[in-house]
Amino acid sequence: MNSAVIEKERAFRPDKQKHSVDRGRIEIDKVSIVFGSGPTANVAVQETSLEISPGEFVCILGPSGCGKSTLLNSVAGYVNPSSGQVRVDEKVILKPGPDRGMVFQQYSLFPWKTVHENIAFGPSIAGHSRKECTSIANTFLTMIGLAKMANKLPGELSGGMQQRVGIARALANYPSVLLMDEPFGALDAQTRLMMQESLLNIWSEFGTTVLFVTHDVDEAIFLADRILIMSASPGCVIADLSVKLERPRSGELATTPEFIDLKRQCLAYIRAESMKAFETEEAH
Ligand code: ADP
Ligand code: MG
Repeated sequence: MNSAVIEKERAFRPDKQKHSVDRGRIEIDKVSIVFGSGPTANVAVQETSLEISPGEFVCILGPSGCGKSTLLNSVAGYVNPSSGQVRVDEKVILKPGPDRGMVFQQYSLFPWKTVHENIAFGPSIAGHSRKECTSIANTFLTMIGLAKMANKLPGELSGGMQQRVGIARALANYPSVLLMDEPFGALDAQTRLMMQESLLNIWSEFGTTVLFVTHDVDEAIFLADRILIMSASPGCVIADLSVKLERPRSGELATTPEFIDLKRQCLAYIRAESMKAFETEEAH
């Protein structure tokens, strides 16, 4: 990445530095999340505790319906724990905030605003001057390689490009943590691989903590420093695997013995949990 772009981008950061080692700590402290009450109550997350260090890239992996999105949404502040606490940088999370950027599977860009306006929106709400907003948006557009698309509407872009804009829009608020809920789930396999590499490049420059939800084992291993595997519903973390594969990572990694061994471990957990979920559904 162009170092002048990075220098320029740093000028707007609250700490003026590469991501501060003191920002982006996530603490999930005995969190349970129950939807509904009485006999129809649904325990989506059950007494889950974990800590994520500043700058870590953590993937949450688990079968469909196990509570991954619910857990992520509790960090985003869209869902509040029924018991326990979520803290980001020691602040108890009860509602969404600009310190936590979110990227969803469906592109949540404003369709009537240009790509540039979409990225500049957060900084303008945060009170930056028009000139600063333009500069921040230009910097992030260059970072994601879409400077030429600045004046296009989201609908004129491919799915992969829209998702890159979504990432830039989230980062333009200088969040302490970036929360991603199956962000590449709707993309074709080839685009998905390119997006994963692109995300790792951005992350290595930006250094923000990333909490990334996926049900794709390969994606989790390729991206993460650490993989948290969730059990079938009611969800809790049943495994915490450290991914010690060298960075920077490229597509060839998937054929190495270390990758295959880790994949075998993950699949064994997932298979057992999916089986449990399937049997529970059958019994009902
Ligand atoms: P995942 O993301 O792992 O597929 P979710 O977190 O979306 O799983 O869902 C976990 C469980 O919580 C599911 O049983 C789902 O039906 C339930 N659930 C999620 N969101 C809500 C909600 N807003 N209201 C009621 N139930 C919900
Ligand atoms: Mg989900």
